[in-house]
Amino acid sequence: MKKQILFRLLLALLLLGLPNSICAQESKSNTINESIRLETDRIFDKLVQIRRNFHQNPELAGKEIHTQQTIKKYLQDLGLQVETDAYGYGVVGILKGNQKGKNIAWRADMDALPNDFPDKADFKSKVQGVQHGCGHDVHLAIALGVAEVLSAHKNELHGTAYFIFQPEEETFAGAKNMIQKGWIDRYKIDEIYALHVTATPVGQIMVKSNELFAYQKELHMAFQTALTEEEVQQLSAKIKQLLVRTSNGSKPWEIQSMVDPAIGLASPNTIFADYCIAEEHFRAYPKDGAFYIDAEVYETDAARLKEIIPAVKRLIQEQGYGSRLLSVSFIKQNPTVQNDPKLTQAAIDFLDRLYGKGFVVSSYGQVPYFNDDFAYFQQKIPGVYFFLGGSNFNQGIIAMNHAPNFEVDESCIRTGVGAFSSLLFDRLK
Ligand SMILES: [Zn+2]
Repeated sequence: MKKQILFRLLLALLLLGLPNSICAQESKSNTINESIRLETDRIFDKLVQIRRNFHQNPELAGKEIHTQQTIKKYLQDLGLQVETDAYGYGVVGILKGNQKGKNIAWRADMDALPNDFPDKADFKSKVQGVQHGCGHDVHLAIALGVAEVLSAHKNELHGTAYFIFQPEEETFAGAKNMIQKGWIDRYKIDEIYALHVTATPVGQIMVKSNELFAYQKELHMAFQTALTEEEVQQLSAKIKQLLVRTSNGSKPWEIQSMVDPAIGLASPNTIFADYCIAEEHFRAYPKDGAFYIDAEVYETDAARLKEIIPAVKRLIQEQGYGSRLLSVSFIKQNPTVQNDPKLTQAAIDFLDRLYGKGFVVSSYGQVPYFNDDFAYFQQKIPGVYFFLGGSNFNQGIIAMNHAPNFEVDESCIRTGVGAFSSLLFDRLK
């Protein structure tokens, strides 16, 4: 009898209460996401203006003074708690939702590049020799946009969102120093997210679990006595022959191929998986009575990294330089972006549910030459780093970071703010 009552009760719950509450929850989240979309549209022009302001007033790593002031004012106007003691010219905006939830951070980098390329924009850099050639101005506008959109939903917002505006990304110092200064211990962040605009089609969000970039190592070979130019060239060629590995004669150093539908990142047949490449010209120089040869190496497979130094040593000995060789080491050992597999999948599932299956494009490869010091945050907090497409090939806009003709289709700001405001709102619950 008891069992029967329990069964009836459960059935009643299932038929009436439970589905209703799921429906109610779903329709509530649909309403929020629609409201996020409308708010994103409402502030879009303002975000474009602020992006252009950053673009016109770029600042190098360690000198992000105007950038810091602009961000600080924007966040204070939104009513956020603003802290500027995290490290350097960094800013942290703290938005507390009115509902209980998690602590989630969104990180944007602030610095520009020491470039002086021709820029056809009306809003070109006013600072000679400094340009936003990596798109961090776009990242700043998106982060401010997400902060504004979520502020507008503070009543429904769960947990606390932390907007980290990180200085000195290009020098790989900002994230590391923020962590060393105890920033992370102070806030107990559960998850952390970031994005980078890149050369893929405008508005396309691309991601993969684990490594997004190849491991970037700087090989450093020290000799007792100087090698002649010819010896350096011969030895460099041999080392390249030893290390370079690509699939079926492909050329993953041709970075522009990353947007090629057949062999680019989005193709299961991508040439950007399982490779090792070395930079074209090795640098040879005397210093303090010794002689050095340095070379950047990009390897996709973490397990193969430890083989590089012993293999190069053996080769140098085989080539007859054994008695002159002092050491072979890595002098640059930056960590690489490592996306948490569970959070990556959760983000893909959520965004695909919201915008339709396939909205998020999976990357099958690892990008060479680039990296991001966001990797340091990911060593402490599980996180996901997304690529956001900024190219508009029909309009001749190619968002290839650091390239002389780097340009961004600003409509990616709308996609970034809308998608990631919804994602953060959901993850904070
Ligand atoms: Zn960058």
